[in-house]
Amino acid sequence: MQLYNKLSAKERAELIDQAGKKRLTLSFYQYANIGNPQILRDHLFLTWDKLEVLGRIYVATEGINGQLSLPADRFNEFKNHLDSIDFLKDIRLNIAVEQDNKSFLKLKVKVRNKIVADGLNDDTFDVTNKGIHLAAEDFNTYIEDENTILVDMRNHYESEIGHFKNAITPDVDTFRDSLDIIEADLKDHKEDKNLVMYCTGGIRCEKASAYFKHKGFKNVFQLEGGIIEYTRQVKEQNLENKFLGQNFVFDDRRAERISDDVIANCHQCGEPFDVHTNCANEACHLLFIQCPKCKEAMENCCSTTCMEINRLPFEEQKELRKGQGNSNDIFKKGRANHLPHKKDLRNIFDHFQKK
Ligand SMILES: [Zn+2]
Ligand SMILES: [Zn+2]
Repeated sequence: MQLYNKLSAKERAELIDQAGKKRLTLSFYQYANIGNPQILRDHLFLTWDKLEVLGRIYVATEGINGQLSLPADRFNEFKNHLDSIDFLKDIRLNIAVEQDNKSFLKLKVKVRNKIVADGLNDDTFDVTNKGIHLAAEDFNTYIEDENTILVDMRNHYESEIGHFKNAITPDVDTFRDSLDIIEADLKDHKEDKNLVMYCTGGIRCEKASAYFKHKGFKNVFQLEGGIIEYTRQVKEQNLENKFLGQNFVFDDRRAERISDDVIANCHQCGEPFDVHTNCANEACHLLFIQCPKCKEAMENCCSTTCMEINRLPFEEQKELRKGQGNSNDIFKKGRANHLPHKKDLRNIFDHFQKK
């Protein structure tokens, strides 16, 4: 029995090209009580590997969270399999707006303590006491209401390239940080305002809305299915799209374009641009925004120091890295003082001053 991925990304990419089949990228999640995540994990791997599913799936005692791709012509088999599992029956699948056959190149099904690393102690509040889910049309109405405070629950590098009109986009590195900042800044409005929140696919808001209700917020709402499902409904129902720019996603596509607005800037020259890249110096790998001109001039590096290192023969680069260890990934996401045009995100205080 093969229970783990065996092919390299390169081998897999070649197989996908050879197959020449269209693939679908999608995501889903469900909070549920899972008695033995390891058994479910193995079952999913064995079944989905046969269906040529690729992606990253987390299974925990609190539920499942999956982002994956599969050949379009196997979709029905996949759906039938989901429907055969009690708590996954009729689950909403978020189908990606922009498709890319190589969004995932490995199948990884992992058992984790939680399906989202949210840093919360769930024993301290009732996670099932969630906010009210809003479909796209109602969401559009709510966010135009002057009694609404609209909060982006994602991290700074996500909201920088795209967010809803009038949203507060906390300048945070983690979900956990954003909860404290939002609660502190909105503490005087727990009863008189609508707290409306959104994230990529809705999963972060499932916890956040329960958390804020526990903290005493009276009117808590969340965008159902996140930006991904919103975009689908806007298209299907011909609604006004109020999302500006690109939706950051966690696969090799990096982002999907929702509107033509370019709301970010190249971090090096400041020109309007909204596509992330990673610094070519492997030891740095900083995630930042770089326009094509700067990319060429800087050889895809974030600084002249990285450029010099990146020019060295690989063996010398490895020598330099020895003993340095890997720094924390969080601080590798567009946080570097040498990037002059990293955008200052709107904080909540600004929001109230502008109103
Ligand atoms: Zn530039
Ligand atoms: Zn760098």
